[in-house]
Amino acid sequence: MKKNDLIEIEITDVMLSGSGVGHYDGLAVFVPSTVTGDVVLAHILKVKTNVAYAKIEKIIKPSDKRGKIECNSFLKCGGCAFWHIKYSEELKLKENAVTNNLKRIGGVEPEFEPITALQPQNYRNKCQYPVAKNKDGDILIGFYSEHSHRVVDCPQCALQPEEFSKVVKVFKEFLKENNISIYSEETGKGLVRHLYIRKAAVTGEIMVAVVINGDKLPLAEKLIESLKALLKDSFCSFQININKKKTNVILGHKNITLYGNDYIIDVLCGVEIRISPLSFYQVNHDVAELLYKKAAEYLKPQGKTVLDLYCGAGTIGLSLAKKAKSIIGVEIIPEAVEDAKFNAKQNDIQNCEFICADAKNAAEMLKIRGIKPDAVIVDPPRKGCEESLIDIICNDFAPEIVVYVSCDSATLARDCKIFESMGYKAEKCATFDMFPRTSHVETVVLLSKGEVDSKKASC
Ligand code: SAH
Repeated sequence: MKKNDLIEIEITDVMLSGSGVGHYDGLAVFVPSTVTGDVVLAHILKVKTNVAYAKIEKIIKPSDKRGKIECNSFLKCGGCAFWHIKYSEELKLKENAVTNNLKRIGGVEPEFEPITALQPQNYRNKCQYPVAKNKDGDILIGFYSEHSHRVVDCPQCALQPEEFSKVVKVFKEFLKENNISIYSEETGKGLVRHLYIRKAAVTGEIMVAVVINGDKLPLAEKLIESLKALLKDSFCSFQININKKKTNVILGHKNITLYGNDYIIDVLCGVEIRISPLSFYQVNHDVAELLYKKAAEYLKPQGKTVLDLYCGAGTIGLSLAKKAKSIIGVEIIPEAVEDAKFNAKQNDIQNCEFICADAKNAAEMLKIRGIKPDAVIVDPPRKGCEESLIDIICNDFAPEIVVYVSCDSATLARDCKIFESMGYKAEKCATFDMFPRTSHVETVVLLSKGEVDSKKASC
């Protein structure tokens, strides 16, 4: 097989990246935008020792697993993996990926519960759009194409609320009409870097922030007026975020509010939540509520001191606070900790303490303070937990139950293996499709010390 060959191939599997794969001449051939059961004419783009990469020239026989592609930016913007596949098939793929990772990487075999999913469209409550100029001087606002920093204009994204694309349009017109300079990643010069929008699912409040490489956004008042006219009462906050560093990190540390509040308010699991631009907040509100409910079911917080590590704006802990004896939340981002404290006060929750620190350092400190939580929940970023933190949890705190919430089932599997080596058994696993159409998924695992009657694990 060589570059530019045309081959007929049957697709026999789909990767989590969304690419189909078939076999030809002893090579695995990856063909993006195909699904198991497709027979396609594939145009070979690159051949390596064991694998080849191709693109579809023609679909000869479509699989019955094929879905309707309902987004014009699919495969251009680098955001989604699965529009070409029926949603039910995507869910099976995600379920299998989590099961395989836990079994193969972690060597653990919890009881796997069926995947939980809601609607696969318009679910995102936050978006950060890079802004760039192309060679012709056109302003592009959209997303990076896959594996690159090339901005693809994306006037409509099927994952977001409809207001977001309207804000993008108004913002683009503002930039054009007023000749505002656009940041270039290559030179580090120019002003406008990103447009950031957040919408609270329950209250409908919308925050718009513009990330700039400078101290002032010229004529910001004109933009604010246009956004007021567009969004009416739901427009609750306009901020500029200052980021003058030559970095891939989107947000700088300083926000200046030019209209409305410094935050928006949402309601999650019955708790009013203040969210600032720098605070983490689950992007899919309705699935997050179901995930938190499952975490509570596994954790059985009644009468317990619960340690909520990697707590963001305190949302999980606060949702458990009424049942628990007390909650200790730990989070590294100061603004998120401020939000967590504010949220506790605002909801008249008095049994919560929030610590701004690295999770492992906070665990060390709590150990020195002689605190022994009855239950621990961890919700780390993709890289998972440090082994030394797992060691403190298992050997010093030694709670009956640990609940692990993860956005990366590979590092989750690695960490479950460590937990099992320290006497905790992965009993149950529930997967939540928090990010439909993308390759990402959230997983919750119940780890328990010794024999626990899992029937007792009720909310
Ligand atoms: N549990 C929260 C947030 C989960 S996201 C929720 O459901 O909303 C993971 C959080 O971990 C982020 O808020 C991030 O800022 C925080 N984080 C990342 N590294 C950390 C560390 N080393 N120590 C403590 N928190 C950390």
